[in-house]
Amino acid sequence: MDKNKILRNLEKIVGKDFVSNKPEDLYIYSQDPGASLSRPTDFVIMPKTVEELQNIVKLANAEKIPLVPMGGGLTLSGLVIPVKGGIVVDMKRMNKIIEINEYSKYALIEAGVTTGQLLSYLNESYPNLQPPVPDAPPSATVAGNVLIHGSGYLSQKYGDHGAMINGLEVVLPNGDICKLGSCSISPFWFARGPIPDLIGLFISSFGTMGIISKVSIQLFDKPKFREVVFGLLKDPKDIPNILLKITETGLAEDVILGMQDKPDWMKGYVFVIAYVTGESQEEIDSHIKTFKRVYRKANARYMKTPDRIRNVYLEKPIFAAAAADYRKGGGFEYVGANMPLEKIPEAYKRGAEISKKYRIVPTLGSRLIGGTHNIVMFFSYSFNRADTKDMENARNALHETNKLALELGGIPWKAELAGQQLILEKMDPNYKKLFNSIRNTLDPNRIMNPGNWEVNQ
Ligand SMILES: Cc1cc2nc3c(=O)[nH]c(=O)nc-3n(C[C@H](O)[C@H](O)[C@H](O)COP(=O)(O)OP(=O)(O)OC[C@H]3O[C@@H](n4cnc5c(N)ncnc54)[C@H](O)[C@@H]3O)c2cc1C
Repeated sequence: MDKNKILRNLEKIVGKDFVSNKPEDLYIYSQDPGASLSRPTDFVIMPKTVEELQNIVKLANAEKIPLVPMGGGLTLSGLVIPVKGGIVVDMKRMNKIIEINEYSKYALIEAGVTTGQLLSYLNESYPNLQPPVPDAPPSATVAGNVLIHGSGYLSQKYGDHGAMINGLEVVLPNGDICKLGSCSISPFWFARGPIPDLIGLFISSFGTMGIISKVSIQLFDKPKFREVVFGLLKDPKDIPNILLKITETGLAEDVILGMQDKPDWMKGYVFVIAYVTGESQEEIDSHIKTFKRVYRKANARYMKTPDRIRNVYLEKPIFAAAAADYRKGGGFEYVGANMPLEKIPEAYKRGAEISKKYRIVPTLGSRLIGGTHNIVMFFSYSFNRADTKDMENARNALHETNKLALELGGIPWKAELAGQQLILEKMDPNYKKLFNSIRNTLDPNRIMNPGNWEVNQ
């Protein structure tokens, strides 16, 4: 590839200020905050409009250069570190909030809008509406999050964030701009169907199918009051029972479990953290009474929480961020894995054993998705970023955990390259064949994030 010629052509598309091949600019794009090894990239570019994005894709397709779409770059599992070099397309300048529809309750936004930006805009201008947000840093993009089946405090009730997508505008690998969902027919981006649903192709495919330029995401009514109700379980075996009893009440907004050996007062317990909401304090008080009863019946102890702790949990984010502080160096990465409820006790027990084997403080958590239809379990490993051996140790722990999740019938979430290969090994061969043939049809030159979801037939 003639890098100078490509740079000149990219500069023509976005202007000199928004493309670079200088090592000092590329450095940050060759790594992420997780435990992955860094990998080089050739260019970084920041388009402002869909037309610029389209021209970048057309150029990359003609020159057969890999493209890696990037939002906040915060998945931790190396998903935006190029595998085969090429151009990182940093979407942050495409950051317009285009429409808030209060009737059909959706936000139509460009793909570079961050979760913090949307949240603060709604808080200010539409205080009765709330968006789905993860417990990730606020510089994570809404698109990057919904495109990896992210989850957050609304997921217990409404499902993962991928399920909350109403519509997408996508630049396909050949440069075509394509609308998916009701927006392909109607001026309203209010629904996904009723037409053949192709939106799923773009979720958890890690940028291999095209680059999303716009997304319509569902919004929800904001309750007036919110409270957190803590319970303590001694034995992880009781987890399925308590979660079933909690969801039977229909009262929980969000339910999180935490089991970690630090700080010392948390050791030896499973913390049940349930959020309840209501329109009045009386309603909240009555929900808390119900929860006390549920906890008692499920072998758990209700825990009255000091305001200091209660306020932290009401503000979020919680476990994942705290885990980073347990070791010198500040690094952490987790295997998130979608698990069936019945396997959660064994996953906790064996997850803690893996942590101990790798001399890492056990830090495990989980969140309910859609009642008990699905549990996202977090096996978190901290490491010292300045110590390559320690990072390798964390990578080994992550790999063993991916294997455990699959052995227990779960599926690693936003899996890094090695985890993707473990998943593909277990996948129905015809699923792989179908996925690969769709990918080859859309992207015969394999420019879209090559190296990810690579099916070796
Ligand atoms: C402390 C901490 C807490 C976290 N807690 C949560 C949590 O509670 N819930 C949760 O879901 N996640 C959580 N995460 C994980 C992650 O940060 C989030 O999911 C985040 O929202 C990902 O968004 P991003 O913009 O960083 O995506 P990126 O990492 O930039 O991208 C994610 C994937 O989507 C692709 N992509 C991005 N933009 C586009 C586009 N426009 N078109 C096509 N493909 C695209 C990328 O290529 C990549 O494969 C947490 C992370 C941290 C560090």
